[in-house]
Amino acid sequence: MEEMDGLCVGECTRCPALVDSRSRIVNGTGPEDADMLFIGEGPGAQEDKKGEPFVGRSGTVLDDGLRNVGLARADVRITNCVRCRPPENRDPTTDELEHCRGYLDQEIDRLDPDVIITLGKVPSEHLLDRSVAITNEAGSLEEVRIEGTPRRVLLCVHPAATLYDRSQEETFANALERAAELADVGDSDSGQTRLDGF
Ligand code: URA
Repeated sequence: MEEMDGLCVGECTRCPALVDSRSRIVNGTGPEDADMLFIGEGPGAQEDKKGEPFVGRSGTVLDDGLRNVGLARADVRITNCVRCRPPENRDPTTDELEHCRGYLDQEIDRLDPDVIITLGKVPSEHLLDRSVAITNEAGSLEEVRIEGTPRRVLLCVHPAATLYDRSQEETFANALERAAELADVGDSDSGQTRLDGF
């Protein structure tokens, strides 16, 4: 495993197909002490171009969802299971997920978030290490040991799912609200302190 600089990977050549398909490594973004960590599957075309996770259409859905619970992208950390764009936007393979897992574990360990939100089936199955029916399980909270530390993982549908299936919008919104409550941030009920401060 190549060295990480803080929460970021500078260079990596472990996945030959991804080295060929990527233009750059897309590291996580957001504060290095964020309370909430969102984990997606892997960079798409826009992310590969800009070097930042969730900057395409699903990023807009995520930004809107965050705003609705009183948060901004700058308040949370966002990363992916794999940091390089898979060719033709295919799912990352088991090997690719494994190659990148150490980086994700280090990011989680160094960030030490209050809650991890998995965006979609791939990151949910990757962290829980079991198959997940994400549309049924979205909103459920599980405790998972990651590198020996118990972590709260909240399952969520992928933001893009709301674009294909309008009925997922509420599921997505509810999961974000729950996440903000668990992290005690934003202006959902328990985040009332923020408003009280004004
Ligand atoms: N979908 C993901 O899973 N990750 C991104 O960064 C963008 C879209």
